[in-house]
Amino acid sequence: MDAQLSRGHDLRNETVINVVALLREPLGAARLYSLHLDTMPLDADLTAERVSGEIRLTHLHDEILASVHTSGVAVLLCDRCLDSYEQKFTAEFTELYRQTVDVQTGSGVVSQLIPDDTEVFAIDENHELDLAEALRQWILLFFPMRPDCGATCPGPDLIEVGESGVIDERFATLSRLLDDEPGEALGPRKLTTQSYERVEVDGRTS
Ligand SMILES: [Zn+2]
Repeated sequence: MDAQLSRGHDLRNETVINVVALLREPLGAARLYSLHLDTMPLDADLTAERVSGEIRLTHLHDEILASVHTSGVAVLLCDRCLDSYEQKFTAEFTELYRQTVDVQTGSGVVSQLIPDDTEVFAIDENHELDLAEALRQWILLFFPMRPDCGATCPGPDLIEVGESGVIDERFATLSRLLDDEPGEALGPRKLTTQSYERVEVDGRTS
């Protein structure tokens, strides 16, 4: 198959590739692309940065198989110290892109390899495929359920209680607020636990 391997243009801050030429080549023909993205939105409040990768597109029957290896960083919130840190990631995946419009006739294509009800990405009517959504989904899978800034993490910000055991004035205010909530235990540990719970809900855990 490598006899038909050629090099495509570099993808700089773009994820859309026109595959009309590749679709006109024999089955098994493949093309390599380098990917460089300064930033890429992963979610409402999460962005990948300095994304680089190698992409290999292979012409199957009415499909293009994309094989992707990519790496980069994203700023996550550490679950222990609650500070932000740069999390490196790598993602390696293959995805099928279904041809929807014939490159010769312009008429609709019914895939012979993929059943109609199978959800795969599509090559649009301009014969372009966009890697962005696949990249986004696969990169998100990499991140840990509990982000951790690493061995140098200072750990949770422990709340200091004076030697006399009297609660610091700052937390006395918090205590008064919490007093309104039935069944809430007071004290530093409880406050810390609550911080964790809030972060888990807001954090990028899926
Ligand atoms: Zn940390």
